[in-house]
Amino acid sequence: MTLSKKVLVLAGDGIGLEIVAEAVKVLRALQAAGSIEVELEDALVGGAAYDAVGDPLPEATMAAARAADAVLLGAVGGPKWEPLHISKRPEKGLLGLRAGLGLFANLRPAILYPQLAEASTLRSEVVSGLDIMIVRELTGGIYFGQPRGIETLPGGERRGFNTLVYSESEIERICRTACEIAMKRDRRVCSVDKANVLESTELWREVATRTARDYPEITLTHMYVDNAAMQLVRAPKQFDVMVTTNMFGDILSDCAAMLTGSIGMLPSAALNAAGQGMYEPIHGSAPDIAGRGVANPLATILSVAMMLRYSLGAPAAAERVEQAVSRVLDQGLRTADIMSDGMRQVGTAEMGDAVVAAL
Ligand code: NAD
Repeated sequence: MTLSKKVLVLAGDGIGLEIVAEAVKVLRALQAAGSIEVELEDALVGGAAYDAVGDPLPEATMAAARAADAVLLGAVGGPKWEPLHISKRPEKGLLGLRAGLGLFANLRPAILYPQLAEASTLRSEVVSGLDIMIVRELTGGIYFGQPRGIETLPGGERRGFNTLVYSESEIERICRTACEIAMKRDRRVCSVDKANVLESTELWREVATRTARDYPEITLTHMYVDNAAMQLVRAPKQFDVMVTTNMFGDILSDCAAMLTGSIGMLPSAALNAAGQGMYEPIHGSAPDIAGRGVANPLATILSVAMMLRYSLGAPAAAERVEQAVSRVLDQGLRTADIMSDGMRQVGTAEMGDAVVAAL
């Protein structure tokens, strides 16, 4: 199959540069094999963009993202930029891309590769066979709600405040996405909220219930977020699809990530209503290991697989990438974060090359 699609590559900061280079190798290999037809364009985002032009999300980058079929992002951020005002910090680039492209649905699969059962901090019988899809609302909630800020009260004490706000339409579209995904899986959706304490998520629960009525084959359950966090480490295999707010999803998906052994294994997709998407590993820029060539590129390579499936219309190529990753794990190759006894430790580039060879 031949198709010509535009992919904007945003390596970002820290290990972003190293892991994205490996993911690009995979895209180029697929292109060389005639499996896909893509035009790759690079642009700056995050701290790198701030350093170059004083803005973590330059207009040129935003324009290129709007014109692309898909965006591949590494990671942004690092201690160097922490002293900056929040409006100039690298993370602002990421949030700006999500908001600017209307990427309201964040798909975060937590799949345990059988080869890595030993890498999880949980007993292997608790996690083996794990396959959860966390659907996180990405453009609303407390990360975007107004008013927000830090103000000085009369008397001089300062007060920080944020707003957790969700409209019915925002809740409905993310719950619909979760139901559509669940229809292709085990048809179970667990909606996570804090409806006992927060009115905005009381509404969430009501709208989730209403939306799921359009999907009679789906079993919808509700869970408070504190219990969901506990259940994720107690008996994670009870979940099929989880749908939740921006902040709860942020936290729960990192928790789910650890069940699989490493944050370095988990891809993500952020989609808008038109199917345009941004694809990125769920981890950050890992300043502690940046520049050393030891980061695990598999989450980014698996993000390319999601891109092929959800934005580039190439599901067969997506499967090839996922199988290649599995084969490389079968060969015993491991980056430091997933290393275990008897395996062969490799660096970032060697891991990327091995995936390309296995394609
Ligand atoms: P992090 O995900 O960067 O790192 C957490 C830990 O996981 C570190 O020990 C790191 O070495 C390890 N790790 C992460 N990715 C890895 C990989 N591919 N291979 C091997 N080990 C890996 O989170 P953090 O340390 O809290 O944040 C660092 C910076 O990244 C901060 O500036 C933060 O704001 C930013 N951040 C960015 C994103 C993003 O770009 N989407 C997400 C989270 C954090």
